[in-house]
Amino acid sequence: MARKMLVDEEMNQTNQEEAHYDFDLFVIGAGSGGVRAARFSANYGAKVGICELPFHPISSEVIGGVGGTCVIRGCVPKKILVYGAAFGSELEDARNYGWELNEKLDFNWKKLLHKKTDEIIRLNGIYKRLLSNAGVKLFEGEGKIVGPNEVEVTQLDGTKLSYSAKHILIATGSRAHRPPIPGQELGITSDEALSLEDLPKHAVVLGGGYIAVEFASIWRGLGANVDLFFRKELPLRGFDDEMRAVVARNLERRGINLHPQTNLTELIKTDNGIKVTTDHGEELIADVVLFATGRLPNSKRLNLEAVGVELDNTGAVKVDEYSRTSIPSVWAVGDVTNRMNLTPVALMEGTCFAKTVFGKEPSKPDYSHVPCAVFSIPPLSVVGLSEEQAIEQANGDVLVFTSTFNPMKNTVSGRQEKTVMKLVVDAETDKVLGASMCGPDAPEIMQGIAVALQCGATKAQFDSTVGIHPSAAEEFVTMRSVSRRITCRGKPKTNL
Ligand code: NDP
Repeated sequence: MARKMLVDEEMNQTNQEEAHYDFDLFVIGAGSGGVRAARFSANYGAKVGICELPFHPISSEVIGGVGGTCVIRGCVPKKILVYGAAFGSELEDARNYGWELNEKLDFNWKKLLHKKTDEIIRLNGIYKRLLSNAGVKLFEGEGKIVGPNEVEVTQLDGTKLSYSAKHILIATGSRAHRPPIPGQELGITSDEALSLEDLPKHAVVLGGGYIAVEFASIWRGLGANVDLFFRKELPLRGFDDEMRAVVARNLERRGINLHPQTNLTELIKTDNGIKVTTDHGEELIADVVLFATGRLPNSKRLNLEAVGVELDNTGAVKVDEYSRTSIPSVWAVGDVTNRMNLTPVALMEGTCFAKTVFGKEPSKPDYSHVPCAVFSIPPLSVVGLSEEQAIEQANGDVLVFTSTFNPMKNTVSGRQEKTVMKLVVDAETDKVLGASMCGPDAPEIMQGIAVALQCGATKAQFDSTVGIHPSAAEEFVTMRSVSRRITCRGKPKTNL
């Protein structure tokens, strides 16, 4: 309530002082969070400016582009490459369905690359139109904060523009991080991986997270030899252990060489390619080495500390639960705050920001039941708690239901790859705490399951839901027998 009064008070001030500022809101960064916040704020009647660097469709040197990482050098181009890569195995599978593919299948990397780039250019145009249709003024240049209500935009020709704003929103995202090993400049990050001129013949990937697993799948699917190195026993730390093992098995079966508990120690340029040395003393030659070792907040070059905006030790902008920084007129959303680094989360944070500041409706982003997907081939998708998290947080029994089956499509195609599904349930309340699936269409299926979990669905309600037959998804409503019951007594009671 106090917070509401505070926001109302500020709104009144905004109205009184409107004339003193060039903008009600100036957004630095036109990615998912920034564009959403700008548009929604403008729809509430705010006068909004936004700045972003123009992007070069081929070069990955300039970090920028309206649409941001997701559209320009993240989710969208990656997913296009995943679709492209998945056709390889689909075409193989088609043979047992009667398709005669007599001629040697040929894959044209440059064609896929151009199609991908065309789509990015199209989406970049759509995002620009979304801004102009909402009445948001776009400035193409690099922004920085020069005071609590003052921004400066440096255009590509060096011209500097200064504007005052009642509120400033930092939405500058994150950028790929390279580990400090000798020869690291010979490797690439996902930025370059999305625009490689030639498809690698032999790729080395370092990392066990989303990007590592996804690019390993893409390149392998397109025919490259791939070696995947990661520090833990299994990839995808933080996901359900059982599902991590399923992903690892699938990657291996599809021909990716996994090197668990192994790091790279040096890269050296040779006549035959890049010589990669590992901490186990192995050496191999690759034509591409991808560092997929995480991303860091894009908070440098914004002059934040000089104006008193506090950062944490990773460089992330510190914000309260309404996305407000240590300077009351400055706010931040998306990866630059390093809360939950996913596009839909940045969209949620941008929406809540606009509601709070211009919609007279203080709104906190809700991080519960955020579903996500790793677009490996086949994909993994999850929502809610993993088995390990449920055990950690529960005080009482946790029931685990699993289903491992051969998808119907594989029975004819002959592909040896099981789909695995899992539900984690609180035995006392019967509430479904978490769901996971690794198999074709997992992300498409999981979105609906996320709605059920957000509504607090119980296992009994899952069971009373009629399935869609024949589908893989129907397994989620037919898992009758408990695979295991885990007693987690003695921990403080938490409300699951
Ligand atoms: P992640 O944080 O997911 O994974 C980073 C990986 O790099 C981990 O396996 C980590 O190992 C490893 N690593 C970190 N430092 C080193 C090092 N010095 N040497 C060796 N290995 C190292 O990062 P990504 O780069 O994959 O993705 C970045 C972000 O982008 C993620 O936060 C994700 O949210 C988002 N993203 C989401 C996607 C989606 O929704 N499908 C797709 C792609 C990205 P360890 O586990 O041992 O720490």
